[in-house]
Amino acid sequence: RTSRQPAQLRPPLQISFEFFPPKTDAMEERFWETIHKLAPLRPRFVSVTYGAGGTTRERTLRMVSQVKSETGVDAAAHLTCVGASRDEVDEVVRGYQRAGINRIVALRGDPPEGVGQPFVPHPKGYRNAAELVAGIRRIGDFDISVAAYPERHPQSADWGAEIDNLKRKLDAGADRAITQMFFSNADYLRYLERARAAGITAPIVPGIQPIHSFKQISGFASRCGASIPTWLADRFEGLENDPETHQLVAAAVAAEQVTELLDEGVTEFHFYTLNRYNLVLALARLLGRRPAEETVSAT
Ligand code: FAD
Repeated sequence: RTSRQPAQLRPPLQISFEFFPPKTDAMEERFWETIHKLAPLRPRFVSVTYGAGGTTRERTLRMVSQVKSETGVDAAAHLTCVGASRDEVDEVVRGYQRAGINRIVALRGDPPEGVGQPFVPHPKGYRNAAELVAGIRRIGDFDISVAAYPERHPQSADWGAEIDNLKRKLDAGADRAITQMFFSNADYLRYLERARAAGITAPIVPGIQPIHSFKQISGFASRCGASIPTWLADRFEGLENDPETHQLVAAAVAAEQVTELLDEGVTEFHFYTLNRYNLVLALARLLGRRPAEETVSAT
């Protein structure tokens, strides 16, 4: 069991953190507070999402560039194909390149009408993430991550289509996949088995979503096709007005999830931070990662 093994026998742990670009001054303050708390954990990279339809294009680029220059931590910019021609998307990629950003999380994105609606590509645009990955590869030498779905993407007709699509994205040049949030480790482990059986060897990094607010996270989950198991809902039931117990349960649930995965031999984790640090900081510690204060200049 990996987590019980002495540290020197385990492969090195890799962690990454996902943020969203802040909209207001107050949100920006929290973003930086969280960055400065988490950067000393020496993540492989910190990534910043790309708002629906490219609405955060400038903010994503600014935050990613600043994270890199202020903390020295590698930063990844997310990018989608929504509502833009190939030339426009390529220009965003070149903008990342000019800013010294060499990591991209490449996504198709969702239509502005909502996640459940059919995706209609821009007439001159990339039609899916696999095409986007190939486009990025033509422009430069980027480290590229793509999305994977342990419970299947809602638009994948069946498991064959889901895994074929993942394979297309990796064959087009992606370096790894990062999963959508999931709460049942069995779903992730089955997905890994399916991918490995299809000859996929690239890392498929679990995306861990700590439950800062059960109400908010279950809303996100239902919009992106991730299920909330009954046992999980039961654990949070009745805690809406009891933030302290809610926080303790959230920490216990996430701790159980990551230590179980560690026991299964998982050594790479991607954390959806929602620009908050407390649960993520505790989880990194459980995984054996301590801050290295001296590597980061605090502001
Ligand atoms: P794709 O891999 O292109 O797949 C989409 C669907 O189309 C799948 O069902 C696939 O099977 C099907 N498909 C693809 N190609 C074909 C084909 N040739 N033939 C038939 N079917 C096909 N969204 C944002 O807006 N901004 C973000 O920053 C962002 N970050 C994310 C980060 C992660 C780690 C994850 C997991 C998701 C993120 N998303 C983000 C959400 C993502 O944009 C949506 O889940 C979107 O619906 C699918 O994007 P994709 O890249 O997985 O698409």
